[in-house]
Amino acid sequence: MKRVLITGGAGFLGSHLCDRFIKEGYHVIAMDNLITGDIKNIEHLFKLPNFEFYHHDVSKFIHVPGELDYILHFASPASPIDYLKIPIQTLKVGSLGIHNCLGLARVKNARVLIASTSEVYGDPSVHPQNEEYWGNVNPVGPRGVYDEAKRFQEAMTMAYHTYHGLETRIVRIFNTYGPRMRLNDGRVLPAFIGQALRGEDLTMFGDGSQTRSFCYVDDLVEGIYRLLLSDYPYPVNVGNPDEITIKEFGEEIIKLTGTSQKLISLPLPVDDPKQRQPDITKAKEILGWEPKVKRAEGLKITYEYFKSLPHEELFKMANHREFEKKH
Ligand code: UDP
Repeated sequence: MKRVLITGGAGFLGSHLCDRFIKEGYHVIAMDNLITGDIKNIEHLFKLPNFEFYHHDVSKFIHVPGELDYILHFASPASPIDYLKIPIQTLKVGSLGIHNCLGLARVKNARVLIASTSEVYGDPSVHPQNEEYWGNVNPVGPRGVYDEAKRFQEAMTMAYHTYHGLETRIVRIFNTYGPRMRLNDGRVLPAFIGQALRGEDLTMFGDGSQTRSFCYVDDLVEGIYRLLLSDYPYPVNVGNPDEITIKEFGEEIIKLTGTSQKLISLPLPVDDPKQRQPDITKAKEILGWEPKVKRAEGLKITYEYFKSLPHEELFKMANHREFEKKH
């Protein structure tokens, strides 16, 4: 039985990866410090003999007994509101955290796959973004703690690949959504759906002309799985190129939820990228992958998930604007 360590295993993406590797017959070790992850996301796996959970901070020395075939580094706060709240931990998990994973991988002779992000492209001047574009990142802006941590993480991973000959894979993940996103993580999708469910107006930042391209989580997991098993060590974009403005997205959520609330405009956060769309030519050619789930279908599943949560969860929503005023 192959053994895989998934850091951030209790998070949104990490927990879906745990499910996938269990389904593929692996022994899965999930590691998480539960700062932004939630044990509820993996509770259903605890009864399985081939699943283990380590409550541990990957930025500290990691010890995992036994062999490891693969290490997937998915531990990190990943929403603007989270990394504004915990900037130092965000920098540490992308630097000390990956260093620990790479060191462990050398000892275990394991292959490492790291979760990178479209944020390495910053507020891009190339559209759609391809892997050759170096990005437009403000290192000292509010997003710098995340963007630079992820850029450093890529550099560190490549250095272990070229200097130590370690087998490494880098996935650049574009906006992904689906069940197990946190209602209060401040991202646009849980924000809009949460607001609709609470009967509040939907808070569109700026005039809503900025674009994003949303990928359903199952599609992303399939792309990551294929990349891990491929022999390609350089970054690969995985995302859905179906681009939409935030205004149109808000209108779709209003229609989906049947809310009688409206979109209201609030100031645009600092350094908010104006447009984002993955160029997935590489993923298509190298992995034979492309997304399958249409936004209408994925949003419906995600809405059903949010609706099924206990009512009080809905009101744990941190007020994004209040938070930004204070910081
Ligand atoms: N956004 C919005 N209202 C919200 C939260 C986010 O209009 O309540 C906008 C945000 O300014 C950005 C886009 O939606 O342009 C996506 O934001 P998110 O935080 O989901 O992720 P990002 O892609 O910016 O990392």
